[in-house]
Amino acid sequence: MEITLLGSGEAVGVPAPLCGCTYCQESGRRRRPGLLIENEDTTVVIDIGPEIKEQLHRIDTTEMDAFFLTHHHFDHVGGLHELAHAAMGLDRHVGNGEDFDRAEKPHDPEFAVYLSEGCLEHLHESTPHLESTLDLRTLAHGDAVSVGDLTVTPFPIEHARPEFDTLGFAIECDGRAVVYAPDMWEFMSEREPDRVYADADLLFAEGAALFRTFGHGDENDLRAALADANADRTVLLNLNEHLQRMTTAELRDAAQADGYELGVDFATYEL
Ligand SMILES: [Zn+2]
Ligand SMILES: [Zn+2]
Repeated sequence: MEITLLGSGEAVGVPAPLCGCTYCQESGRRRRPGLLIENEDTTVVIDIGPEIKEQLHRIDTTEMDAFFLTHHHFDHVGGLHELAHAAMGLDRHVGNGEDFDRAEKPHDPEFAVYLSEGCLEHLHESTPHLESTLDLRTLAHGDAVSVGDLTVTPFPIEHARPEFDTLGFAIECDGRAVVYAPDMWEFMSEREPDRVYADADLLFAEGAALFRTFGHGDENDLRAALADANADRTVLLNLNEHLQRMTTAELRDAAQADGYELGVDFATYEL
């Protein structure tokens, strides 16, 4: 599997809006979160943040098999409108395709978007027109989905707000596993007896609560959850120098002291 971290930030992003503080000026950009996983002919992305168009163009990806959503917060679904344009296809955008020369017609991408029942309910209330355009497929906790040769298994995440039905994902292929949980307080081991989040080769998880007080949960709970996950490599996400009032070097040093790595936009990993 080839893995690209599309965004390592949180809801605000770096730089923060209308801010010129030294942390915003001197830190690298942190886009809203997303993870791209590729294996031979299969490509999936988890989370569709508001920068999704830029993120996918930056890595030259125009083919996608499936997207997966962790939950219905702006920083994870804010790019759905733009993807709806792609899903619509040219004929629906501009009218009858017969008026165009073949060479003028772009390839219309086809992709599914997997989400929880709770996420679909929020979508239905906030942007019902997207439902008729996108190929939406609901997931239940623990139900694995096969996309090409990738197996994607959702599991429940504690995200400090019970009204948001939040998922993490384990993506497996050829005995290798990557786990993604960008917004989390802790893994819900009592609701996830199979512990699909555990013992991964590579774990991407929220790290904000490890740095000062900003984060979704309690620092000790997060530390216990990351230790319980027991991944070979743990990459921290949901980072924001502006909110944490720490430089990137300070964040990196603190992460490394705990045996973790700091997420950086467009970092790549191979499993
Ligand atoms: Zn700032
Ligand atoms: Zn969230």
